[in-house]
Amino acid sequence: MPLTCWYSNVRNNVSHTVWRAIARQVASEYNNRCGVCGGRGDRHPVECHEEWSYKHGVSDTGEKRYVQTLEGMIALCPMCHKVKHIGFAHEQGLLHEAIGQLMFVNQWDEDQVSSYLRLVWETWHARNEVIWDLDISALSRYGVRPDGSEIQKASSRTTAGYKRPSSEVFLLNKKRT
Ligand SMILES: [Zn+2]
Repeated sequence: MPLTCWYSNVRNNVSHTVWRAIARQVASEYNNRCGVCGGRGDRHPVECHEEWSYKHGVSDTGEKRYVQTLEGMIALCPMCHKVKHIGFAHEQGLLHEAIGQLMFVNQWDEDQVSSYLRLVWETWHARNEVIWDLDISALSRYGVRPDGSEIQKASSRTTAGYKRPSSEVFLLNKKRT
């Protein structure tokens, strides 16, 4: 998720009650199992993860437009969820666990993990070069009214307070001795 949309994800844009209802529906659709590894967490089985697509095109008025679209929600076990937000996992001191899960689920070695993380890092940087509009109309699938009355605030583009993940995350090529 680019910086420009960092604070405008679904969870921050709907009430706590609405978010809980969405998360319950998603968990039940996935039978309380992780949509990636099939596992369950110890303290709670699954968490709700937003899946986005990133597209750009030209508007009717000839302006370039960049749209981040919510494609849907997936249930993930807490470990796979950390993999999806690996920069955040790093900030929480949980990078090692997240990488372990990444290697386990994909059967990857350290080089494959490094390549993947470099790609994530480059993609994230490229997406930060532009301002993204947010399309969360897919929320209607989860009972959130399309008129937006349950959306608490318009897409906020603030990046204040966000700490960039350290680049050391992406220097895993060095073999441990
Ligand atoms: Zn999982």
